Amino acid sequence: MGAGARPTVGVLALQGAFSNHLALLARLGVEGRAVRLPGDLVGLDALVLPGGESTTMSMLLDSSGLRSGIQSLLDRGVPVLGTCAGLILLATRVDGARPDQRGFDRLDCTAVRNAYGRQNESFETEVVLDGGVTTHGIFIRAPRITELGREVEVLGRVDGDPVLVRQGSVIGCAFHPELGDDPLVHGLLIDQIDRNLTTVSDGRQED
Ligand code: GLN
Repeated sequence: MGAGARPTVGVLALQGAFSNHLALLARLGVEGRAVRLPGDLVGLDALVLPGGESTTMSMLLDSSGLRSGIQSLLDRGVPVLGTCAGLILLATRVDGARPDQRGFDRLDCTAVRNAYGRQNESFETEVVLDGGVTTHGIFIRAPRITELGREVEVLGRVDGDPVLVRQGSVIGCAFHPELGDDPLVHGLLIDQIDRNLTTVSDGRQED
């Protein structure tokens, strides 16, 4: 991305809650792009892995051919936000996953699948960030984040539990920020682009 250009943020659109992410990115003045094929990853400044069903997404990452492209994007330090199932795909350890479920091994924590209960036990609550800032959290069969590695920063908590975390340019969010009205979490992703100033273009890095 050149100085002053609008960043392009991809949203994995194989399954799950991707359209609200695109709408929220548009509100932030960012170019959103649904990612369904490997070519859709070219030129992205950041990527969102949305909520949905992580077992299904894991299978679709293989059948779509997107897995290795996303892996190399993470290797290059391109900012990635994983929400709910997306967080599960980023976690280094997943509790409650099928043995054939594979993720990206990027966020040093354990994601305990469905730890807050089933679909009908979904809930909404205030997430508390540093400085007393709060944001509305919608939790739908959300994973619980446990066993954080030393490099993981906790950015938001509910009842002391980490629900919004960051390791380098990777952000994990246990709730669904795209279903609320607050662009705070997506704003963190955009800030990360500004910090990295890394552009992916055909596998090259540009300034
Ligand atoms: N429970 C789902 C999973 O394990 C995640 C739910 C969600 O993304 N809302 O994949």
